[in-house]
Amino acid sequence: MTLDDRIASIDVFSVTIPQDDAYLGGLGPGESINSAGYFVRRGNRTIYPAAMRSAVVRVTLDSGAEGWGETYGLVAPEAIHALVSDIITPIITGRSPFDVQAIWEDLYDLMRVRGYTGGFWLDAMAAGDIALWDLMGKLTGLPLHQLLGGKHRDRIPAYVSGLPRPTIPEKVDLARSFIDKGYNAVKIAASVSYDGVEREIAALREGLGPDVAIMLDCHWIYTPAEAVALLQRLAPYNLYFMEAPCKTEDVAGLADIAAHATVPIAAGEEWRTVYDARSRLEARAVSIVQTEMGHSGITQFMRIAHLAQAHHAKVIPHATIGAGIFAAASLQASATVLNLPYHEFQHSIFPHSAKLMSGRLECAEGYFALPEGPGLGITPNDGFWDNARKLG
Ligand code: MG
Repeated sequence: MTLDDRIASIDVFSVTIPQDDAYLGGLGPGESINSAGYFVRRGNRTIYPAAMRSAVVRVTLDSGAEGWGETYGLVAPEAIHALVSDIITPIITGRSPFDVQAIWEDLYDLMRVRGYTGGFWLDAMAAGDIALWDLMGKLTGLPLHQLLGGKHRDRIPAYVSGLPRPTIPEKVDLARSFIDKGYNAVKIAASVSYDGVEREIAALREGLGPDVAIMLDCHWIYTPAEAVALLQRLAPYNLYFMEAPCKTEDVAGLADIAAHATVPIAAGEEWRTVYDARSRLEARAVSIVQTEMGHSGITQFMRIAHLAQAHHAKVIPHATIGAGIFAAASLQASATVLNLPYHEFQHSIFPHSAKLMSGRLECAEGYFALPEGPGLGITPNDGFWDNARKLG
């Protein structure tokens, strides 16, 4: 393993993540699992697999050194394999992982004229990008946060995301149990708020007291006018932020909401690139950017974070269903972003992902630990291999 090591091959795996609680809670009224193993959440009209899973890539160098990356593999993980094996591998074989940012630009340019500036193509690129950064760390012996210019913190504040319980009292009890363990921020999703958002937020404020940050994820379900009206009704409960209130396509609508809101507007989990961030930041549509490492990769995560900083916006990274690899990358990158008050904590997913990785991947008492060691600071363990299936 030398600094001259070159990319030799890339493999893609579909990994199932064991879980206790269904993501966002159990099936809601009228929801059922179809013949391909998917169901559609009626609240946000979004497809989810019955079993949580992720798409993982392994980049191997001539020396045999391995770097790990990951993206969304919830639906059609074979699409990620097709893009990696058919387009990415032949283009980047023989190149150095230290060319990671040049490689990102080269790959992005390949498909622009066809309109592939997002979606599965950028997801596949994100997975490869994370693996190349991991390899740079392994070749140099440096942790990723050091390669990215240095950390501002040794641990990352975590907010508790989702209260997957059927009734409001049970949701308040679940939130209370996290507050008692040292967390100080919780988020609920309007799309699974079957008793009404206002009743839920009111009960949480009543049950948790004035000092806990309460966040609302709207999953893009409102019109701008509805979102502004809802914010006015929620004013007594002092939200920390309102997330994704209107459709992602409606940048002007989001800017309208932000102009009328007296709480910060957050968005960004579905963005892939700094170009997605730029239009929203320039429109003053968001003051909190929620970049998802599994979609952005490290290169774009950092470019979005730097653009957010230039607009005096905060970064509160999104966290989702993964095997622990993009989670580690997100924590490493988050340590280096100055204005980053929280990182999302998917309590129904993250502890299970952590069991698939060797290395320190922990969240306790309100904070994520920063993984230690070269690169991402984690590597797949036997638990990962028990749940992994090589694609292709
Ligand atoms: Mg969200």
